[in-house]
This record gives sequence, structure tokens and C-alpha cells, in this order.
Amino acid sequence: MSVKIKYYGVRGSLPVSGADYSMFGGNTTCCYLEAGDTRIVVDAGTGIRILGLDLMKSDLPKTGGRMHMLFTHSHWDHIQGFPFFIPAFLPNVELQVYGETKKVPGLDGNDETWDIERILKMQQHFIYFPVGTKYMSSNKTYHDITPESRFDLGGVHVSCCALHHPNSTLAFRFDCDGKSFVFSTDVEHNDDMIERLAKFAAGADVLAYDCQYTTAEYTAGKIGWGHSTYESGIQICKKGAVKNLHMIHHDPLHHDKTLLQIENDAQKLFATAKMIPEGFEFSL
Ligand SMILES: [Zn+2]
Ligand SMILES: [Zn+2]
Repeated sequence: MSVKIKYYGVRGSLPVSGADYSMFGGNTTCCYLEAGDTRIVVDAGTGIRILGLDLMKSDLPKTGGRMHMLFTHSHWDHIQGFPFFIPAFLPNVELQVYGETKKVPGLDGNDETWDIERILKMQQHFIYFPVGTKYMSSNKTYHDITPESRFDLGGVHVSCCALHHPNSTLAFRFDCDGKSFVFSTDVEHNDDMIERLAKFAAGADVLAYDCQYTTAEYTAGKIGWGHSTYESGIQICKKGAVKNLHMIHHDPLHHDKTLLQIENDAQKLFATAKMIPEGFEFSL
């Protein structure tokens, strides 16, 4: 069984628009995998709106069916498209939603527990958005996952890994019939992280990796901001014998011209490094 993968949003932090972004796109994180009749969505940044429109043109509205939604974490740029994901409003669609439960300090200083169901519901609280999740007629089931989680989704094996990022993120590794794809966004590198990700991604066909900053930008003031560089992504690929590096989570300040220059620099160190444009698709 082959896996089709398409990036619906590759911008980091905040959506952007305008002529300077027409090549690489402005929508935030959303990636879609399809293997046979298994459908997997990773993150619900603004790119998920277009995915929803594409799915509405497929058989899905007529036949209904199951869809798995995996969340790396709940920062805005990874959840804000969910209220605009039209298939979630179809009563014949079953949404299996997976995310990590987090304990965070509340506004009063006391710890609060937030699971993925609460996170999505609160995003659509009436104070923020007119349509609550209860009006999304799909049949939703919520699953708590952890960095140790390993599970199968219709023939696709999923493994998780904790990433170094404010309030932490999950990376996902998808294995299917000897092919593997690792999705690792929102991660800041350090020696331990590079070591752990090289092991997690070992032998993978593709590593999608947070390359938000150049090393010059990173060292000049972005240390501790939770993002990484293409040099770190390349280090991980070389250590873990990963075949291809997909550079994602583009900084809102990086215009098309800048991203092309960064891709050029990265390819001098690792020929299969690719700056991913929104809408890019491939098969494994
Ligand atoms: Zn992000
Ligand atoms: Zn984040």
C-alpha cells in the first residue's frame, strides 16, 4: 500500500498573504496522508480549510467515513483552521481526534488540565467564535496520546516522540509497508534533541522538519523561541540516515526569495533538502 502525502499549510506562527508569498504560500500547518482508505490529518492550521474543500469534492460527503486527526500541539497556528474544516460538519463523518493532555498554569496561578477536546471546544467558545464544536455534526471521539504512544491506523503504524518546544510538541513517525515519513514541526534543537530525533527518524524516507530560522537569525535573538534551523535538520538526517529533508514551518518574515536562497544554501550541504511549498504532494 502506498501513502500519498500533501502539505496544505507550511507557514509557521501566523498566516501571511501577498505577492511576496505566492510561491511558498501563507497557510499555517496542515499535512494530509492517505493510504488506501485510511485518511490521516496532522494539525489544523489554516491550511486545513483547503483540505476540507478538496475532501468535499471527493466521495466523502456521499459515502461518509472515518478520518484520523493528530495534533502535534495546540498553539494557534496548529489549531486555528479547525472551525473552517467543512467535513467536520458532516453527520456521516467520523473524526478520531488525537492529542496530548497538558497541565499548565491557569490565570490564577493554579494548575489546569487541558485535553484536546477542551482545547478545541474553548477555541470555539462563543466569546471567540459564533459556531461551537457542538454544531459540528461529525461523530467525534477524542484520544489522549503521549510521547510513548504507538498505535495503528488502518495499516499505518504511528509512533510519537516528545519535542523541545514551549509546553512541548509531539513528532509523529508514520510507517507503512516499509516506507516511513516523520513529521517534526515546532522543535528547538540541542544536542539531546538532535540525538533523539536521529534515532526516532532512523532510516526514514522523509523527515519534515522545522527550519524556521537561519543560523544567523537563531543566534542573533531567537534562542529559546522553540524553533530550529536547516543545519540542525541536516545533522539529524545525516546521523539517522534519513533520505530526504523537507523544510517546513516557514517564518512569516521569509519571503519567497529568501526561502529560495535558504533552499540553495541547504542543498550545498544536503542535496535532497527541499523547501516545501504549500500544496506540495508526493507518494511513498
Ligand atoms: Zn507552529
Ligand atoms: Zn508551537
